[in-house]
Amino acid sequence: MSGSRSVPCRVLCALAALAAALPAALAQKPASLPPTVYVRAGHLFDATSDQLRDNMVLVVEGERIARVAPAADVTIPAGAVVVDLSRDWVLPGLIDCHTHLEFRSDQYDPINEVKFTPFQGGFNGVVNARNTLMAGFTSVRDVGSQPFFAVDLRRAIDSGFIPGPRIVASGPAITITGGHGDMNGFAPGVENMMYPSENDYSIADGPEAVRHVVREQIKYGVDVIKILATGGVLSRGDKPGAEQLTYEEMKMAVDEAHRAGRKVAAHAHGTQGIKDAVRAGVDSIEHGSLIDQEGIEMMKAHGTYLVADIYNDDYILGKAVEFGLPQENVDKEKMVGRLQRENFAKAVAAGVKIAFGTDAGVYPHGDNAKQFHYMVKFGMTPPGAIRAATSSAADLIDRSRDVGTLEAGKYADLIAVTANPLDRIEVLEHVSFVMKGGKIYKNEVGASKAAQ
Ligand SMILES: [Zn+2]
Repeated sequence: MSGSRSVPCRVLCALAALAAALPAALAQKPASLPPTVYVRAGHLFDATSDQLRDNMVLVVEGERIARVAPAADVTIPAGAVVVDLSRDWVLPGLIDCHTHLEFRSDQYDPINEVKFTPFQGGFNGVVNARNTLMAGFTSVRDVGSQPFFAVDLRRAIDSGFIPGPRIVASGPAITITGGHGDMNGFAPGVENMMYPSENDYSIADGPEAVRHVVREQIKYGVDVIKILATGGVLSRGDKPGAEQLTYEEMKMAVDEAHRAGRKVAAHAHGTQGIKDAVRAGVDSIEHGSLIDQEGIEMMKAHGTYLVADIYNDDYILGKAVEFGLPQENVDKEKMVGRLQRENFAKAVAAGVKIAFGTDAGVYPHGDNAKQFHYMVKFGMTPPGAIRAATSSAADLIDRSRDVGTLEAGKYADLIAVTANPLDRIEVLEHVSFVMKGGKIYKNEVGASKAAQ
């Protein structure tokens, strides 16, 4: 080891000589400073208000936004990297609070439950994550998958190994025996479990069992707890309107999750299950299909978010049938689909907090923005719908310090479209530019060049 002592000296001497040879201004700038990129935004919707601002510049340093200012107030140095979106509408990267990146939307035959290995979901996730990002969704909350798919996918994306959105990951949805998350309709000997001794970290009966599963999920890295308050549409042998987890079980999930700094998302179609979940203190009601006026008032009083997947009815009653969806599920969707949209409009009118969530995976990942049309059709303003998928969604998923608006200090997660989404919300279905963490993933407008 004796010879190694001279190495640092040689390195330091060489660096000192190099610094002396450089112009003073350049030498003072450490090489580790992130590169600065200037994004010209012709029309900026930063999601801090309902307004557009014209001719703005976002100064991006590394993965975050350093400054947002009128173009007239920003001096762009010669040779600086400029992303020219001066003819476009620039918005924060979109957020979908209800996705299942594990699932494909062309596999509806129940026999698949005993045919597929977990690896299938892993392959699906790589493709689905990329399609989601390219559609302009730079963050998602993934609410329900095999243990612990979403945690692993989050790590693979965060490490830069594969492209995808930022993920707020749940574990498997927590369900009662025979509930929406159980594998029903097969003989007692038929099982498909990765971890039978832990009921796949999913099936729990009684508050103490729920406590254990929540703690186990947190141990293995989940960001959010997903519980199944009522029956579901795409499961077999249960009713969407029927309560499943009891109030006491849900209260236990909420107490344990909140104690650990995790939020709770409750799948709830049925009227009573929605109310008990809200009373138990969940942070969001997913679906909310059969909510009544009292439930709406309770959600307002508690500040509970509604995440209503009001696009996918079209897909379930169309393509999903071609892909083997059983008649039982078609009948259930017919029962809840129309009511869900009508009740969503009532909740919007009453002022319930709304966050954007679509149940992607039920329909193809990447089509997430198709839901904006329905959110506006059923009562939201275009800026309100966009804020449901940006600032409000960030609040629900507890990421407001990082994403959801375009402000100094936030991640440079931004998208662009070539027409005004406040005039025609459907333009969000065709995002032409995607930046996540200062890195450009999609650029159909040829926007990047050096300043003259
Ligand atoms: Zn779902």
